[in-house]
Amino acid sequence: MRFVLTILLFLKGWLFAVQTDYDVTVVGTSPISMLEAIYHISKNERVLILEADAKCGGAWKSIDICGIANADLGCHLIGTDPKLKEFFKNYFGCKFVCLEHPDQDAVDSHSHCTNGYYFSNGCYELVSRLQAVVESRPNAVLLHRKLESIFIDSAREMIELSLGDSRTTTTKLILTPSSQFRVENPSFTNQDPRGHLYPHLYLLVEEETSSRFTYLNGIISGMSRAMNLTPFLKFPRDNLQLIVIQTHGKNELNNPQKFFDALIDQGYFSPYARIVESATYFYQQSYMNTTAISHIGGPLVEILDTSSFSGMIKYLDKWKSVMEPLEQ
Ligand SMILES: Cc1cc2nc3c(=O)[nH]c(=O)nc-3n(C[C@H](O)[C@H](O)[C@H](O)COP(=O)(O)OP(=O)(O)OC[C@H]3O[C@@H](n4cnc5c(N)ncnc54)[C@H](O)[C@@H]3O)c2cc1C
Repeated sequence: MRFVLTILLFLKGWLFAVQTDYDVTVVGTSPISMLEAIYHISKNERVLILEADAKCGGAWKSIDICGIANADLGCHLIGTDPKLKEFFKNYFGCKFVCLEHPDQDAVDSHSHCTNGYYFSNGCYELVSRLQAVVESRPNAVLLHRKLESIFIDSAREMIELSLGDSRTTTTKLILTPSSQFRVENPSFTNQDPRGHLYPHLYLLVEEETSSRFTYLNGIISGMSRAMNLTPFLKFPRDNLQLIVIQTHGKNELNNPQKFFDALIDQGYFSPYARIVESATYFYQQSYMNTTAISHIGGPLVEILDTSSFSGMIKYLDKWKSVMEPLEQ
């Protein structure tokens, strides 16, 4: 009897399954989203990746600012877990340094890397390698388009996606809490976007001595944290340094010299250093009621936990079960 039921269930799935354009659609390109996309690509599924921004990476993207290319957007920590470091080294060829001693390789010695490791060329190294893998696979499509809205068709076990002027279909939709779109199902109440704006101040500094810090936690009033990005970047001349300060609010951006003087006072720059150029950059992160989407989407919708970079450790075994390590 159980055998007959299994056959009937199989035939139902086979006869009534609706052919969708994609097996999986991933919304957004922060590192965990891209890795989840690569996991499905490695399983030979047809994968669509949608990114509203012109650049991949989400909060980990790199930007061109103060005339310097591929600078990290804001300040980042990736943690101290050697398993993560090995994963990115073996599967994506990333090279690591100690965050507080970026001139030293973080190959074997972990004890002095109290602030953790960092990608030797910053976030650009991470995101560009993940993007290169996605773009090299024939069963993956990366579109720099915003997912405007979705209709969850539970009866036909698929989701319709609106990209503004066109529609497509997917069997599974993978989101993060920062995905932002409308849900067309009448049972869903769309709310106004909620979110947080992260203001950043970039200072291009002329300084004759070498960089004296890499990562600082709020040591100055109005500063949330700061990074000296110099060791991870290429500069047109040797005596330039680029620092980024994540501030508590927009008003803090009006006085770059105040932050710089405080950094000089605390010995992070010599008294002869001076600001050559300053710029601001805002990152807006919005949040959706993903629990409610999950409720109506059931198995058609998956929500990734992207709350911290090191939190990806829980996905690592699953990803490694299908991804191919690089040939060394
Ligand atoms: C400035 C900043 C620095 C951070 N630094 C760290 C850190 O150092 N370490 C750490 O552990 N965590 C850090 N975080 C926490 C961070 O939220 C996570 O690391 C991670 O980036 C969150 O991923 P996410 O995909 O949820 O959101 P995001 O990184 O914001 O990415 C969301 C992406 O989805 C895209 N998107 C959204 N809606 C749509 C749509 N409808 N269609 C197409 N694309 C869409 C956006 O354009 C964006 O690229 C930081 C956060 C911020 C804001």
